[in-house]
Amino acid sequence: MSNRPYLLSEATWKSVRDTRYDVAVLPWGATEAHNYHLPYGTDNIETEAIAARAAERAWQQGAKAVVLPNVPFGVNTGQLDIPLCINMNPSTQALVLRDVASALAGQGIPKLVVLNGHGGNDFRQMIRELQAQVSIFLCTISWFKVVDPKEFFSDLGDHGGELETSVMMHVAPDQVLPLSEAGSGAAKRFKIPGFREGWAWAPRKWTEVTADTGVGNPAKATAEKGKRYVETVTAKIADFLVELARADTSMLYE
Ligand SMILES: [Zn+2]
Repeated sequence: MSNRPYLLSEATWKSVRDTRYDVAVLPWGATEAHNYHLPYGTDNIETEAIAARAAERAWQQGAKAVVLPNVPFGVNTGQLDIPLCINMNPSTQALVLRDVASALAGQGIPKLVVLNGHGGNDFRQMIRELQAQVSIFLCTISWFKVVDPKEFFSDLGDHGGELETSVMMHVAPDQVLPLSEAGSGAAKRFKIPGFREGWAWAPRKWTEVTADTGVGNPAKATAEKGKRYVETVTAKIADFLVELARADTSMLYE
């Protein structure tokens, strides 16, 4: 019998039948190359770990959060030429989200948080569309945007760099190869200033940007940095889950 009642994958029917869940959390990652030292499942491993830790803390504060199984496929249209990067188009994700949300809504689960762990995923527009069609309250968090990474890391590259490597060293150290195996994560920048400055946007063509598939140098990553960051992020997400669990979603504004 699981002692982690907040993980649906480990729950059995009687405990589910007898629990009134306040909020469901749907972790959503990606399957893609992460430099030479991190596994393809990195986004899934990180996001599941953060979801589980946040739900555990929320549960301890009396909020019945339940973590659904992770969806392992993200939007990877910029990595189609990298073997075994598995792309799931946004339009397909929207259908998957609709089915999950509709099932939960029909079962009386009041709230759903999509916990995103992949930079190429963006559930906001999907939620705008879907919220008009289902009774369950929908929202999304990208865990890597919860706190300012500058306070934790010196290199702010966004893929397989210091942040992700530190997180993995903390949550799944046996899945991280020695940093001596890692590439530098050197990435080419756009020539056009608007893209570089971030106010113009286009998706990146991954193999033209980076040789080792990383964006950001993992050299200064440590498990200690990962622990500090993950604990800060999960505490904030846990508090959010508790507040959301208690909230009347017809009275969200002050
Ligand atoms: Zn990643």
